[in-house]
Amino acid sequence: MLNGIVVKAYNSYYYIQSGSKIVTCNLRGRFKKGRFSLIVGDEVAYTLTGPEEGIIEEILPRRSMLKRPMVANVDQVVLTFAAVNPDISLSLVDRFLVIAEFSELEIILCINKIDLTDAEVVAELVERYQQIGYKVLSIAAKLGTGIEQLYAQLHDKISVFAGPSGAGKSTILNAIQPGLGLTTGEVSQKIGRGKHTTRFAELLPFEGGGFVVDTPGFSFTEFKDMEEAHLMDYFPEISPIAPKCKFSTCIHYKEPQCAVKKAVAEGFIHADRYQSYLDILNEIRENKKGY
Ligand code: GDP
Ligand code: ZN
Repeated sequence: MLNGIVVKAYNSYYYIQSGSKIVTCNLRGRFKKGRFSLIVGDEVAYTLTGPEEGIIEEILPRRSMLKRPMVANVDQVVLTFAAVNPDISLSLVDRFLVIAEFSELEIILCINKIDLTDAEVVAELVERYQQIGYKVLSIAAKLGTGIEQLYAQLHDKISVFAGPSGAGKSTILNAIQPGLGLTTGEVSQKIGRGKHTTRFAELLPFEGGGFVVDTPGFSFTEFKDMEEAHLMDYFPEISPIAPKCKFSTCIHYKEPQCAVKKAVAEGFIHADRYQSYLDILNEIRENKKGY
């Protein structure tokens, strides 16, 4: 049997990338009975029934699962923000980081459009998130600056891009590989794609290995699935301090003798990050009330 990865699902056909070719496959009948659904990103074993056709015989275990868009085995997310135009919102960065942590993805924070602002502004941004332990890259996709370093991170992995519209996601992908042919902001808004049409995600292969999901990931509705007691787990600088709080049930809000609040006061945790924590905590509570 041969191995491959589902890059596209359409009607009851699955397009399998196998080496350098795409094989169009059907599912073996026995799979169709169960509730199991094969999705983009799944690894399969298949047998050939023609030069470019085959039947899927086996589905290999999933390593991970992203819900929106629905893709299996995504390794990492590239959170993309423009330093300016649109101006970076640090609270939005934190919201994206929390969703990415919740989704158990490796994270690359990518600050784009550094050609439009001062080097010190960029350096401060990079340092702020590096201190927490995040991998941060600063790039100018339009000029090709930093693209090689970014590509080195994408190689041989399945990556999804996320971030506000206009940050430069399509420009970045086109800079990495013009063949991906993604339309940049202005164009795709004009033809109204994305907002009103439901599309299934596809994996686009990089020439040198690895894939990128063609649709940007995440929606903030995922805060609904979070428990307030677990929110701290998605802040890498808060969770290690939490065990030092007086109460084991401390959520670092109004409890006395809270080690996290102490760390904020002493400057070990950035006040902006703690504020983001409180904002999301409140949002989770409001959501719970709605039920
Ligand atoms: P997306 O919505 O995240 O896919 O963003 P786009 O890739 O469509 O980019 C939005 C706009 O920003 C386009 O007009 C791009 O030409 C521009 N842009 C992207 N990267 C850069 C950059 O590094 N520097 C500058 N000055 N403009 C950029
Ligand atoms: Zn506490």
